[in-house]
Amino acid sequence: MSSIAEVDWKTPHLWRKTVAARTAAPSLSGEVETDLLVIGGGLTGLGTALGAIEAGLKVMLLEGNEIGSAASGRNNGQVVPHHSKSSPSEIEAAFGSTVGTRYNEMIKGSAAYLFDTIRRFGIEAHAVQNGWLQPCHSDAALARGKAVYEEWKARGHEVEWLDGAEASRVTGSRYLGALKARNGGHINPFGLVTGLAAALEGLGVTIFENSRAESLTREGPLWRVTCKGGTVRARKVVLATNALTRDIWPKLGKAMVPFRVYDAATQPIPEPLRAQIFVGNVGVSDTRRDIRAFHYDCDFRIVTGGTHTLWHNAEQRGLRRIQRMLEDAFPQLGPLAKVDNYWEGSFAVVPDRKPRLFRLGDGLMFGGVYSGRGVAASFSLGRHLGENAAEVLSDDQMPLPVTPIRTVPSHWVATQVANHIHPYHRIRDSLD
Ligand SMILES: Cc1cc2nc3c(=O)[nH]c(=O)nc-3n(C[C@H](O)[C@H](O)[C@H](O)COP(=O)(O)OP(=O)(O)OC[C@H]3O[C@@H](n4cnc5c(N)ncnc54)[C@H](O)[C@@H]3O)c2cc1C
Repeated sequence: MSSIAEVDWKTPHLWRKTVAARTAAPSLSGEVETDLLVIGGGLTGLGTALGAIEAGLKVMLLEGNEIGSAASGRNNGQVVPHHSKSSPSEIEAAFGSTVGTRYNEMIKGSAAYLFDTIRRFGIEAHAVQNGWLQPCHSDAALARGKAVYEEWKARGHEVEWLDGAEASRVTGSRYLGALKARNGGHINPFGLVTGLAAALEGLGVTIFENSRAESLTREGPLWRVTCKGGTVRARKVVLATNALTRDIWPKLGKAMVPFRVYDAATQPIPEPLRAQIFVGNVGVSDTRRDIRAFHYDCDFRIVTGGTHTLWHNAEQRGLRRIQRMLEDAFPQLGPLAKVDNYWEGSFAVVPDRKPRLFRLGDGLMFGGVYSGRGVAASFSLGRHLGENAAEVLSDDQMPLPVTPIRTVPSHWVATQVANHIHPYHRIRDSLD
């Protein structure tokens, strides 16, 4: 493993195997000019491109590897219209009432926006919008879960509360209660991003793949971005580079911590068991610190995910541990708890778990950092970034505070702590 953020993105994984292959767009060569250049072809970048082209801009997008190579194409696939850790009132307290309300509204509508876009472009993303559940594993989580449910309900979110018996019946595992967001669900992330890229090309966005932006400098009224094969001059640039940001802009890489996680999947689960586990084909991510997240893929494999403490030979050492977790959560699976698909990825986190919008210069913005809950949020935030580049929305009208770069204090230490705290989380969970 070369670094926490970098995975071998060419490794075949489940999501790639179950949708049609896509031929990569050409890499950048020569000199081109555009209104907006988006750097990064994950969900933030693709969402930005969609927002901007629909607002009338000429848009180009540079992806350093291939579309779907990073978190957006290899995540667990849960489409979650809910914050990472915060409640709506905590968001309003942190951002102030105006921006906090705007951000809550964005998150509330983020799953619907994603699923509507999938339907609009006929994207083959195995989209299932049957709801997303956050079941509670402890009394403390139950009290908080109920309070969060009440807060969302008061803000008009399509949420419901399941008591312990119903949460256990629907998930097939023992829980004390659950928040259900009716408009959430799950997708095949690789199908989603490759389908979005095709849809954007159809709308006129020019995408260059295998085109890593290596430098970003000001040249008169324009930004000049160079790759190995060529140069783009652009009036506006949006950096949507997330955990793979590295050193494209001073200090930006230090504004977030890369965090490595794995995903894994079982063989297809037959019908009699499917009537007991994830009834209604819902997505599930529970309240544990060592989170248990599951849903079915298009062939009814259980897809799950999590983190390890040591990443050396993690697949060989981890498979047995993942199997034990599945056996514990779903004893009814018996020998079907065996996992035989495994892959890894990285996302960006910050200690306060709140996404970032950084104004880096005139016409230059960074957006991202979803702390593990980015599938729905990133695509919606991207739309706002695109509209901001098109000057439909000013910085003051964005759904998050727009600030200068805020680096994570003691970045190296924070990275080590985030990536090695897993045993502590397991102990805390077992004491709950
Ligand atoms: C294994 C895993 C499971 C997850 N599960 C879930 C889940 O179930 N639900 C959920 O909500 N969230 C989940 N997440 C988080 C979610 O996937 C991310 O928050 C989200 O995809 C981030 O999107 P992004 O576009 O900002 O970043 P990314 O998808 O990381 O995209 C950034 C892109 O920028 C490119 N790039 C970087 N630097 C350059 C450069 N200099 N030039 C050109 N291109 C560049 C990269 O190659 C990359 O493709 C998961 C993440 C992982 C890794």
